[in-house]
Amino acid sequence: MNKENQQILEYTWENINPALDTMRVMFDLVRLVDATECREITIEKDGSLKYGNACFSVWNAKHRCANCTSFQSCNSGIKKERTEYYKDQRFDIQSLPVRIAMPDQTIYSCSMELITFRSISSSESANIPETKDQIETREHLTTHDNMTGLLNWDGFCQAARQAMLDDPDRKRLILVMNIRNFKLVNNLFGREKGNEILIDTAGIIQTLCTEKSVYGRNSADIFAACIPKDCFHEERLNEIISQIQGLVSSASFHMTVHFGIYEVTNANRPMSLMFDWAYMALESIRDDLEAHIAWFNDEMFKSLLHEQEVISSFQQNLKSGQFVIYLQPQVNPQEEIEGAECLVRWILPNGEMIPPFRFIGILEQSNLIATLDQYVWELAAKQLAAWKGTKYENLYLSINVSPRDFYYVDVANTIINLCKKYDIQPGMLHVEITETAVADETQDNMASIEKLQAHGFKVEIDDFGKGSSSLSLLKDIKADVLKIDMGFLRESENEKRGSVILHSIIDMAKNLGMEVISEGVETKEQMQNLTDLGCDMFQGYYFSKPIPVAAFESLLNS
Ligand code: C2E
Ligand code: MG
Ligand code: MG
Repeated sequence: MNKENQQILEYTWENINPALDTMRVMFDLVRLVDATECREITIEKDGSLKYGNACFSVWNAKHRCANCTSFQSCNSGIKKERTEYYKDQRFDIQSLPVRIAMPDQTIYSCSMELITFRSISSSESANIPETKDQIETREHLTTHDNMTGLLNWDGFCQAARQAMLDDPDRKRLILVMNIRNFKLVNNLFGREKGNEILIDTAGIIQTLCTEKSVYGRNSADIFAACIPKDCFHEERLNEIISQIQGLVSSASFHMTVHFGIYEVTNANRPMSLMFDWAYMALESIRDDLEAHIAWFNDEMFKSLLHEQEVISSFQQNLKSGQFVIYLQPQVNPQEEIEGAECLVRWILPNGEMIPPFRFIGILEQSNLIATLDQYVWELAAKQLAAWKGTKYENLYLSINVSPRDFYYVDVANTIINLCKKYDIQPGMLHVEITETAVADETQDNMASIEKLQAHGFKVEIDDFGKGSSSLSLLKDIKADVLKIDMGFLRESENEKRGSVILHSIIDMAKNLGMEVISEGVETKEQMQNLTDLGCDMFQGYYFSKPIPVAAFESLLNS
């Protein structure tokens, strides 16, 4: 994957044009194209994007290309080449994937086309011309969704762009619609009924606005619309939502529909970006059964920028030591510290501390989490090595493993090798794995976990009780420790029922031969109850928050 990425050319809005000019010395035609929208684009002096002619019009007056190498290169991050013929001319096209950092800090991905052309003989040009019918069929297939007859993603992007270019002064909205749990519709009522619902949805959604509007289906149950703002009425959209939701009338299942809306403030933005922003608004209410409509807002834009910042600065920040471990003590029923959990903290040069919830998820989404985790595991191993021969040498440290780590590294061997490298006993390192790592995944993860246990590492199931715990999971994985998150007790209104459940979980863990740690213990009373129920270890603010290593050592001394 990294190798492919190396083919992506990186520019800023300021240096892209000089770079294009340099290329123009060597090629007949050099241009940037937005491959999703099939448009030539230029970066203006102020850094804004300007959408121009359809890119295929150079070799084909009307129709998009059957085999667009620019589209392929953007998607794969790899340079692609092809040849087109038109009116006794041969065009040799190289498509290079490009990423441009824009003035508003967003990244714009497009393709740089380097084209040479020359006249060809009539024998060479007898290059199987398509018939008008063939062209039209191909055109329809490539721009339309077979099932609903709406535009498909490419078709939608091009048509929406055309609408904006045709009437640039008119304000527009991009809407995205998703049916929550559509998979369930298929499962409950069958695929055919599912398809019928999608077709009906396509019909209903188009009644939102009939004038100068573009509708498409992006994938499965995701629909998109681009409509003039002056034609949008929220009441009308609410009626449409009711109609779509009413397509399923079943006592056992209610279909829920969500819309995300982006108001186009600058039409010179890629359609895919505007779509993403509408989708982001939608995501913000995905699990909300009451709200059906959400608008993209400044807060969301800020969080997007934060995301990009986290990702783009990550390697550099890791190198410069901005990620450190804090330790949170784990105590036995006598309140003696036996070890600690390593929790990562990102400390900015100005001393500000960024908590994990603001970057772990982002790093997980962007495949960087394994890099961070390996770094944290190594810090933990180093710490254990540093404690050897001191009064802290009997303490263990517990590290977190993200479910995503299993995709990118051989978790078991990495941890085993770390212990060898720092000459520490496997028993001193506990490994916390969340349920999802084993619940969703394959035999491979299970094998990795078993390998760790065989080498003497303690494996803990983290956050049991948080999210959708599955009891059947405990049947398949023989973890050593069950770590119960007390959060679920705090959130439950009925404390009594909560403690009955807690009691059963602890009993069950014991019967399965597992130790039990409770995390999130905040009061003496909780500690007492948990001790009575047979809990072995405790972690929580009642004893200490996660603290820097030096503070942890002082705590042990006091
Ligand atoms: P976790 O592994 O379940 O860690 C426990 C979290 O609960 C910590 O949050 C801790 O500060 C918090 N906590 C501890 N005691 C209490 C309490 O008494 N009350 C309350 N309300 N909270 C308590 P933190 O440090 O913000 O970490 C959050 C999560 O981020 C962790 O949950 C873990 O899933 C993840 N994380 C932290 N460090 C790493 C890491 O190095 N790698 C990976 N993959 N994930 C990490
Ligand atoms: Mg943990
Ligand atoms: Mg936890």
